[in-house]
Amino acid sequence: MPDHILPQSQDHQPGLEGLMQPKAEHIRASYKGSGKLTGKKALISGGDSGIGRAAALHFAREGADVAILYLEEHEDAKETIRLIEKEGRKGLAIAGDVSSSQTCNSAVEKTVKELGGLDILVNNAGVQIVQEEISAISDQEWQKHMDTNINGYFYLVRAALPHLAKGSAIINTSSINAFAGNKALLAYSTTKAAEMGFTRALALQLVSKGIRVNAVAPGPIWTPLQPASWGPVDPQSVADLGKDTPMGRCGDPSELGPAYVYLASNDASFVTGQTLHVNGGMIING
Ligand code: NAD
Ligand code: MG
Repeated sequence: MPDHILPQSQDHQPGLEGLMQPKAEHIRASYKGSGKLTGKKALISGGDSGIGRAAALHFAREGADVAILYLEEHEDAKETIRLIEKEGRKGLAIAGDVSSSQTCNSAVEKTVKELGGLDILVNNAGVQIVQEEISAISDQEWQKHMDTNINGYFYLVRAALPHLAKGSAIINTSSINAFAGNKALLAYSTTKAAEMGFTRALALQLVSKGIRVNAVAPGPIWTPLQPASWGPVDPQSVADLGKDTPMGRCGDPSELGPAYVYLASNDASFVTGQTLHVNGGMIING
């Protein structure tokens, strides 16, 4: 678990792993793979860092080859690929903006071509811009949340679907803020709730194809998104991250990875349209 987070800020979003103090943990040394995803091919948006990197490394340890789609953080992407390869699996890094349907189409094509197929799609790329007042949110800022956090999920699923056979899985990263709301994250909370409707409707639509669709709703997690979104507003709030949860702390990405493995694997063969809440004990209805 993250210890002694210092007050800090990153002045650019997406944030970078390398600037975080302390470093986040993405997979525990003690996590043992048991071949749950042997031979599977996965594509993870936002897989260069944070929760997406955790999903990537857990998938690789469980035997999957993994492509990551990320905006521009080449160093973080390179490190994630190095770690995937260290697990003895194939890694593929694709830079591109999920708010373009063409980019999503070509990312899927590249994944299928390089990895030889696609079985697991994780929609996880996201932006989060803090604004205390609705009047401070510009049209452009509102639209950026929609374009990235919900349109990107739609574009990637639409592109992936022709390649997904029976037994495939789609996992959408939502947020506790979809359920609890967050007064300083109006645009973000709106998109995270949209992802929930998307998850439920898509699960029903794809059930006859044998494709499962689920979501993970993390609470506060120690990722570059935190210093890059809350940091510029209040560096101390980054140090206080998660202190309001029942566990009194934020989570590490390593505490999220196993939830993605569960939903991606055949262990969850009777689970679709659901949300796994990994949030330090906050009680959520829905
Ligand atoms: P992160 O910064 O490590 O990951 C977000 C990733 O999204 C970045 O790596 C970036 O490459 C990618 N991205 C952003 N805009 C993009 C674009 N236009 N095109 C392509 N990629 C783009 O932070 P994270 O916290 O791991 O975020 C991952 C997901 O988890 C997000 O959907 C976020 O909303 C969600 N989430 C995070 C927390 C948390 O506490 N960290 C809590 C709940 C939900
Ligand atoms: Mg990143």
